[in-house]
Amino acid sequence: MALQTYRIAREPYYCPAGDEVALFEAAHADRLPVMLKGPTGCGKTRFVEHMAWRLGLPLVTVACNEDLTASDLLGRYLLEAEGTVWQDGPLTLAVRHGAICYLDEIVEARADTTVVIHPLTDDRRALPLDKRNELLTAHPDFQLVVAYNPGYQSVAKDLKESTKQRFAALEFGYPAAAVEAGIVAHEAGIEPAMARRVVAVAERSRNLRGRGLEEGASTRMLIHAGRLIGRGVAPEAACRMAIILPLTDDSDLRDALAAAVGACF
Ligand code: ADP
Repeated sequence: MALQTYRIAREPYYCPAGDEVALFEAAHADRLPVMLKGPTGCGKTRFVEHMAWRLGLPLVTVACNEDLTASDLLGRYLLEAEGTVWQDGPLTLAVRHGAICYLDEIVEARADTTVVIHPLTDDRRALPLDKRNELLTAHPDFQLVVAYNPGYQSVAKDLKESTKQRFAALEFGYPAAAVEAGIVAHEAGIEPAMARRVVAVAERSRNLRGRGLEEGASTRMLIHAGRLIGRGVAPEAACRMAIILPLTDDSDLRDALAAAVGACF
């Protein structure tokens, strides 16, 4: 009951790029902690939603950031009319009742927050709740999944080796052009031929990665452009609004991207 709101009622649409579904299922069978590696907006979150639905498990998602404390994950005592009441944090909820806990952008969390997952990700499968004086053994269905974008990696902001080595990893990239066009057409509700053109813009933008652009256009951006086109916005204007302007403030790069758009439509 506690996790009812975290259940996924309808199948989330997910188009596989390879054998990631079977690999995840194998990892899940042993409750191995899994790390999803890949650039932003390439389908990691959608994949974990799809897998939770497939496995019939609730999904508890936490977007990590540098202000996230261990208590935010574990829980805290709250002062209520009838006294202090313990409230489980999202990680504790998943561990206690058996859910997939998905920590998005795990590198954003501080090291002292990240270490709370250590005892959960080895043979102990337990979560110490020091404030409650409780050692919570994980529910048999509990599984930990984290997402990690290697592109933003810097020495100051990387996972500790002792954390990394607890996970099996799946690598995500942008799907092959035909697959990505299918995803854009489905999610934005536009014609496949139009989706292919939007994907062609993305491919050109991805070639500019490392040459001024930190990242090329993500699948998410293409879907935004597709939705604008679906609303009747001209493709060039849609790509400018959904892709070029959010990606860069550099006028030369904007010109290069605009030329790429011009070549695709
Ligand atoms: P990430 O978690 O990697 O930042 P998301 O999972 O949020 O990215 O993906 C962004 C959007 O792109 C999703 O909402 C979905 O519409 C779409 N998407 C990306 N890859 C796929 C895929 N393989 N199958 C279906 N949809 C996808």
